[in-house]
Amino acid sequence: NKYVTIKTHVDGAPQDSDFELKTAALRLWAEPGSNDVIVKNLYVSIDPYQLNRMKSYSSSHRTINFAVPISPGMDIDAYGVGRVVASGHPEFEEDDLVVGLISWGEYSVVKGGNMLRKLDPMGFPLSNHVGILGFSGLTAHGGFFQVCKPKKGEKVFVSAASGSVGNLVGQYAKLFGCYVVGCAGSKQKVNLLKEKLGFDDAFNYKEETDLKSTLKRYFPDGIDIYFDNVGAEMLEAAVANMNIFGRVAVCGVISQYTDSGKRAAPDMLDIVYKRITMQGFLAADLMNGYTDFISTTQDYLNDGKIQVIEDISQGVESIPSAFVGLFRGDNVGKKIVKIADE
Ligand code: NDP
Repeated sequence: NKYVTIKTHVDGAPQDSDFELKTAALRLWAEPGSNDVIVKNLYVSIDPYQLNRMKSYSSSHRTINFAVPISPGMDIDAYGVGRVVASGHPEFEEDDLVVGLISWGEYSVVKGGNMLRKLDPMGFPLSNHVGILGFSGLTAHGGFFQVCKPKKGEKVFVSAASGSVGNLVGQYAKLFGCYVVGCAGSKQKVNLLKEKLGFDDAFNYKEETDLKSTLKRYFPDGIDIYFDNVGAEMLEAAVANMNIFGRVAVCGVISQYTDSGKRAAPDMLDIVYKRITMQGFLAADLMNGYTDFISTTQDYLNDGKIQVIEDISQGVESIPSAFVGLFRGDNVGKKIVKIADE
């Protein structure tokens, strides 16, 4: 079994050289009654939050409490789709397609079948179940509808808008009837947002020097909802441009993952006087909206109303560069690595 691990803890922007590809013998059978499931990995998700698990925490007071820290040499669990090759678990059989927490390698040993469920692809490509019909989709849909509580016609700003979560937030918001502006890190991404994904407008934040006045230009009547994927200066500028009773969904703060000294400092007086709600959330909190998310999204896909933007690299060897690329903006849409043919 070939798998990817970190050589040392990763603080700052990750480099390819922080990772190594290891090979280890793997048992392709499961002890009956063990509840273990051995999975051949097909598609694995590449997610920014993994970086926060790779940091050294010896001198830090903070760990992320929903996933164990990743130590050098250890398997890196990740969301993905695979096929069962052996099962000691009554709910899974050889050949079952499964989705859930597998790992960055060719095979996964899923102890106790934890965080795994059988997958019915429902006619959609398997990669869709990693992104739009998986955790990214749930994050975007639940984050927008449950956390932002939109009203039709409201003005929505989305950062990292060409990324996995961001592009879907923008598309859901447009389909719901909001006015949507996104920002992204290249001209090509800006064109994608405006020409293919139906955003009302978009801009390249890397070309802007004063984000507060940039947002004032795109939102002369103010922002009602900000879906924050990046944090720091963009969050400060968005809060400065928010309307009364505005909502900020803090989904992620990727600019701070590579620079732990970076902090957002929105003007708190704005928060008070404009009665702004800022709410952090985790996709795992949004499961009560899962049925609505999945049925709405499938309908949109079947009707061709929502676009699937996936960025797929090939082979377990490509995992390190796929991951490193997230923090340079290399990806367009959901970053996935295809490990093996179905
Ligand atoms: P993306 O597909 O959006 O990939 C990351 C993108 O972020 C890059 O393509 C890049 O696009 C942008 N980016 C990278 N570095 C910076 C930076 N320093 N400043 C601004 N933008 C940057 O990833 P995801 O959609 O998977 O994740 C987006 C955010 O949502 C992340 O913060 C992530 O942690 C969070 N998240 C939160 C979840 C939750 O449960 N709360 C679940 C899933 C994701 P560009 O070219 O535009 O710079």
